[in-house]
Amino acid sequence: MPSNNERSSSLLGLDELLRPRSLAVIGASDTPGKVGYTVLRNIVASGYKGPVYPINPKDPEVQGLKAYRSVLDVPGDVDAAVIVVPARLCVEVADECGRKGVKGLIIISSGFSEVGRKDLEDEVVRAAGKYGTRVLGPNIVGVLSNSDHMNASFAPFLPFPGKVSMVSQSGALVVAIDAATYVRNVGFDKLISIGNMADVDIADCVEWLDADPNTTCISLYIEGLKDGRRLIEAGLRATKPIVALKAGVSAHGAAAAASHTGSLAGAAAVYEAAFEQAGIVQAADLNNLFDRSLALSLQPPMRGENLLVLTNGGGVGVLATDSAERVGLPLKFAPADLQAELRKSMPEFGSAKNPVDLTGMAGADWYYGSVKACLTHPWVDGLVILYCETSLTVPMEIAGTIHRAIVDSGVKDKPVTIAFIGGEQSAKAMKGLMENGLPAYDVPDKAVNAMAALNEYAHIRTLARDESPADDLGAAEAAAREIIRSARAYGRLSLTEIEAKQVFAAYGLPVTKTALARWEDEAVALAAGMGFPVVLKVVSPDILHKSDAGGVKVNIRDETGVRDAFRIIMKNARAFKADADILGIAVQEMAPAGLEVILGSINDSSFGPTMMFGLGGILVELLRHVTFRVAPVNRVLAKIMLEKIHAARITEGLRGEAPRDREALAGVIERYSRMVADLGDEVAESDANPTLLYEVGKGVKIVDARIILKKTSG
Ligand code: ADP
Ligand code: MG
Repeated sequence: MPSNNERSSSLLGLDELLRPRSLAVIGASDTPGKVGYTVLRNIVASGYKGPVYPINPKDPEVQGLKAYRSVLDVPGDVDAAVIVVPARLCVEVADECGRKGVKGLIIISSGFSEVGRKDLEDEVVRAAGKYGTRVLGPNIVGVLSNSDHMNASFAPFLPFPGKVSMVSQSGALVVAIDAATYVRNVGFDKLISIGNMADVDIADCVEWLDADPNTTCISLYIEGLKDGRRLIEAGLRATKPIVALKAGVSAHGAAAAASHTGSLAGAAAVYEAAFEQAGIVQAADLNNLFDRSLALSLQPPMRGENLLVLTNGGGVGVLATDSAERVGLPLKFAPADLQAELRKSMPEFGSAKNPVDLTGMAGADWYYGSVKACLTHPWVDGLVILYCETSLTVPMEIAGTIHRAIVDSGVKDKPVTIAFIGGEQSAKAMKGLMENGLPAYDVPDKAVNAMAALNEYAHIRTLARDESPADDLGAAEAAAREIIRSARAYGRLSLTEIEAKQVFAAYGLPVTKTALARWEDEAVALAAGMGFPVVLKVVSPDILHKSDAGGVKVNIRDETGVRDAFRIIMKNARAFKADADILGIAVQEMAPAGLEVILGSINDSSFGPTMMFGLGGILVELLRHVTFRVAPVNRVLAKIMLEKIHAARITEGLRGEAPRDREALAGVIERYSRMVADLGDEVAESDANPTLLYEVGKGVKIVDARIILKKTSG
């Protein structure tokens, strides 16, 4: 965790940058069609209250405003400068702004790292950095803020007002979303285009928006992060819900995103894990991002998992029931007293169970009574209200009644989402609902999914914040580094199994006893000392997959067996790779059979050391299902990793088998993750494959270990 110092320094200048009291537009123009024209016009048209200074070397006046040749000529203070001049001029402009005391640059200009000119981008940031000036962008659409009446962008107008603030790595998306907010009636306060993130990044914006009084939900569109860990930290610190859409989850999409932003898109599974660890709710697509942002910006999280669906149509009730199960909030029957209460507001043939079907005869008063009854009942944790337009009712009236019932109930800490299924009347009614702070959707599935977001938010917040005490690993790191150092001294980038097991053992991981035999007699002596049966394996930095080279012999029961195995392995290894550097043969205790699992780590380009867990043996081949968590993981997260693998239910002891020692495994995952987090500057990948999992009380044994080092440390 960074200290408070670092936190405030990453926020330095962001107030002036994102909520400037005065603006300069560098490259302001009088020629319609030019970006410099549109941006200045938008700032003025949006009703921006502070002084605006057009900067233009030729014209003394731009769009009726007095213009200046340079920002240095401006008489008053300038908080932020919007820059639209060509990329090659930006370094000089940044320097002038710095000298002027401008605190933030909103660099709309493109032609930087997105087209291979990272050098130019770095130079601009350096020029600004000399004066402590922050840089947003370059290659952005700009910044839009309803509460500041500021459209400092080339997007057409301020978004439909509301409480969602969005940070987007795609500029085009900002423009599109801006317009779409009016069609969808989803209210936004700020739209921040973040572009190449040369200086200010998504984590900075999250931290800043978390303190912004006009934002209640932070919405993110992410293509690729340079420093994913900062986002996890910002997410963990945030007090407001954050919802993220990660683009580029398909292999092809990742390639497109990478070339687009000039940053590498990490593996989808790692992002998914990281979001969960950060307490960030995920959106499946753009529609879903809107839907979830809306609910998270207006409604409190669900405190439990009892969802009640109230409807006037059986069909949509069934659809909602299906959706609820899909999103992990399966409906349960309402308690008897609530059912009795609800039956007062419905005909004989209605249903009070859940979904509660008021039937097509339901008028406003029935909605009123049942909404109130549901919200005030302690069993209900969340309420989805559905309404199908009928000829008996007026949508506007139903909407008004629902709102009144919610207000009259006096309940403020339970979320409500609504769907009105119908035509224009219903659309109008939903607009009214949203103006009253009630998220409303056009189909039941969306209302249920939005409720699921409020549930996921509550759930992952508690997970993410769990601080179970970690084991004291003492001098583990120093011992591990010493082993790595000596391998590097021999010019090796992979540790031998023996060395890797020494590193593992330093972290208290349960590895099989293993020793190196350089000649046959030594192997015999070591085996006798260890006790039969033993396993013999080739030890060579040139043979990473030992069985493939015929380099593993298990279940050796006596001296003859050791001698035979020693010779065969040596012969096989030479045959496999004539010039292989063979350091000897590892003699190790033979572990009893157990359930095979795999632990491993990768060094993700966005998130760094990341822990992997999956089932081993034939199952891993068949299911190809592994799960990731950014390292280190605590005991709670380690257990979640086990739960994530559905097939890992096998460890619970199905069909009369004894349950496995999941507690011990979680402890091993935790320690392993600490190891790869500590050694993140040295270790590129590692695995413990297989790791054998025994019955409860009998623990875990790692029988193979591999550590691949980074090309250079650091
Ligand atoms: P590699 O993965 O390099 O081929 P391993 O060390 O994983 O080599 O050995 C191959 C297989 O031999 C393992 O998957 C495991 O089934 C078995 N094995 C290896 N070492 C032991 C051991 N000490 N005790 C029991 N079985 C072992
Ligand atoms: Mg192996």
